[in-house]
Amino acid sequence: MQTHASNRTIAEKDVDSVLHPYTNLKRHPEVGPLVITRGQGVRVYDEAGRDYIEGLAGLWCTSLGWGEERLVEAAARQMRQLPFYHLFSHKTHDVGVELCARLLAMAPVPMSKVFLAGSGSEANDTAIKLIHYRANALGTPDKKKIIAREKAYHGVTVATASLTGLVNNQRSFDLPIPGVLRAACPHHYRFAKDGESEEDFSTRLAGELEAMILAEGPDTVAAFFAEPVMGAGGVIVPPAGYFPKIQAVLDRYDVLLVVDEVICGFGRTGKMFGTETFGIRPDMMTLAKGLSSGYAPISALMVNERVYGPVAEESGRIGVFGHGYTYGGHPVSAAVALETLNIYAERDILAQVAEVGPVLQDGLRALRGHPLVGEARGVGLIGAVELVADKANRAPFPPELAVGARVVAKAQAKGVILRAMGDAVAFAPPLVISKADIAEMLRRFGLALDEAHGELG
Ligand code: PLP
Repeated sequence: MQTHASNRTIAEKDVDSVLHPYTNLKRHPEVGPLVITRGQGVRVYDEAGRDYIEGLAGLWCTSLGWGEERLVEAAARQMRQLPFYHLFSHKTHDVGVELCARLLAMAPVPMSKVFLAGSGSEANDTAIKLIHYRANALGTPDKKKIIAREKAYHGVTVATASLTGLVNNQRSFDLPIPGVLRAACPHHYRFAKDGESEEDFSTRLAGELEAMILAEGPDTVAAFFAEPVMGAGGVIVPPAGYFPKIQAVLDRYDVLLVVDEVICGFGRTGKMFGTETFGIRPDMMTLAKGLSSGYAPISALMVNERVYGPVAEESGRIGVFGHGYTYGGHPVSAAVALETLNIYAERDILAQVAEVGPVLQDGLRALRGHPLVGEARGVGLIGAVELVADKANRAPFPPELAVGARVVAKAQAKGVILRAMGDAVAFAPPLVISKADIAEMLRRFGLALDEAHGELG
């Protein structure tokens, strides 16, 4: 029999009522939830008042850390002024317009229009729909296949989970849908051949991509999706020369390039966009997370004229562009995003990342000396260490040992929240983190690594 609701703890009510994303649901009652009650700066606090350094900025999103009053004020002001309006059927509102204009002005390559949505998945899903719509507009209805890479992460809707290249996003969901092609993951440490340089590895992957496009028929391949640094796949930084070589192949066969900047956008890799860090020329770009520092749900899809032109024509022919979300361009989210962009500019967030990024990267690389760490990688304020059973031959641990998850659980017990992707442990702290807090985060992580090593040893 259920006790009266008010007598039950948050943890008990959680177990009774919440279907948790990305959780082993069967084990959840036994593991129990970690109840986070507040945050300040780069730290969050649990019910008992214990602090945790948020080494992943929540879900790679809280770039300005917790407790940023200006964002609270921006939301409150907008709530009073116009808490809801939309952009459907020729309506508009000032903050939605200002945000789209601002994003176009910031775009690293010429972009034509911005579509606002509520999540990264929705932005990428919209990109997929535009690819189909455009192909029909151009009278090339067979040119619709989309290439995504092994270990990609583009979201979890039916279509975007089909692009995502991680087994647990597809297994038992009856995914992927048809029309998705899979390209290789550009992880040099794992997939390069013996003695193959980064440049040579990139050349080989570009050659494999070209062979796939030719085998499928260039008239059937519409687009290639890529994160500049692959996030949920394990923080995989592209090898030297990768994007220019890939882009040359795509250009040759008139294949659009969609760059998923959901994690990399807004300074994470050291430049405003990952596109700039790696010399990419996208036709479409998706943005979320850092766009509002995670304070309000919002995402954006930027499209160039090559995409917008035919889509606009097709909507004229049909009579409407029949796509849009109730909360796309939500005024409160748009106001929070605008204020976030103001803060990035005023506080020169890129200078901040240039200042502290090397402390994270050097700290991670110093961990290469640890017996469990096979590779340390990263750029700007995103990185990972890959845990291996044998450093000499890069042999991974047996998956059933769940070494990554074990280390992350120990790190949490020591006061740092991180995320394991297989046996890669990812770091993407708030961009406002200090050098001292990076050192403390790595110190706590080091304790967890040592403890895990002791147990595995
Ligand atoms: N794209 C990338 C690169 C992501 O990392 C994520 C989420 O982590 C998404 C898309 C999906 O975003 P959302 O969870 O807001 O749907």
